[in-house]
Amino acid sequence: MLHSDQALRSFGMRSVAKAKERVALEVSQASEFFTAMFGDVGHQRLYATIIPYGHGEAFPGLIHLSFSTFALNEDGRDDFDQFFRAHEVAHQWWGIGVDFASYRDQWLSEGFSNFSGLWYTQIAQKSSKYYFDQLERWKSDLKARQREVGPVGLGYRTATASDGSEYNLVVYQKGAWTLHMLRNLMLDLRTMKEDRFEATMREYFETYKGRSASTADFRRIAEKHAGAELGWFVDQWLNTTAIPEYRVAWLAEPGENGRYKVKLRVKQQKVPEAFLAYVPVTLQLEGGQVARLRVKVQGALTEIELPVMPAKPTSLVFNDLAGVLADVTMEKW
Ligand SMILES: [Zn+2]
Repeated sequence: MLHSDQALRSFGMRSVAKAKERVALEVSQASEFFTAMFGDVGHQRLYATIIPYGHGEAFPGLIHLSFSTFALNEDGRDDFDQFFRAHEVAHQWWGIGVDFASYRDQWLSEGFSNFSGLWYTQIAQKSSKYYFDQLERWKSDLKARQREVGPVGLGYRTATASDGSEYNLVVYQKGAWTLHMLRNLMLDLRTMKEDRFEATMREYFETYKGRSASTADFRRIAEKHAGAELGWFVDQWLNTTAIPEYRVAWLAEPGENGRYKVKLRVKQQKVPEAFLAYVPVTLQLEGGQVARLRVKVQGALTEIELPVMPAKPTSLVFNDLAGVLADVTMEKW
């Protein structure tokens, strides 16, 4: 389920007919994408209906969509609506296809659907702009209310009596961030292939289709494909509210034969000493080469020397691809 934040818009019948075609096409495209990525939900048909409310909700083989999502912009495309519809389609896999075992596992439905909706926009738009813009907006929201909200693993209990929006902020938005971070952690930086993440999602769906699953169940499958223990990842991102801040400096010095040594210094703040992250770093080198690597950051101060670079680095992006839910400030060496 997702509430549409968009202002409700008025529209005429002709535009509804046109919009219905557009929505139907998109719902089927999202459905095809998720089938290819996660597996077959086993429905012959998926029905999408218009409802006179500002939210969407998913049922087996049926999704309710807010009437506002049928009122398209002039160009027929609206990023939020595209994401919103795909979120509801994704529930056929997450929440319906695989149910969540307890309230502590609710992110396996809403966080997964939110992430899947975002992933679909990246494919449909052949652009990552909306994907990263939306993650950035969610990060701002999370940081603004960090002291008020609980961790993802509290499920519906994150909602307070006064408002209730914390549930959306934490379970949907930080839940989506968590899956995005896992995707990034599993990315092969040498080939930029996503085989490990895709295999994780597929095996998780196929294993638990028609049943309930817990975060521990998902973690076991993710660990198998990551080839690494992920308890630290689950604990930090689902059981705490910590968001790190990194102050980063780097220095390149000429070495032998035109090669360069690169020193990197990271000061980690706002999180417990043991907080751990493998942060993606991208260097542009003279001559057009690109170097990608992950840097292990733990503790207040990390000082390392990167592998020797074959040419002079002209820029360094710390936390590339928003690999970690964090703020980064670059400093002079
Ligand atoms: Zn939902």
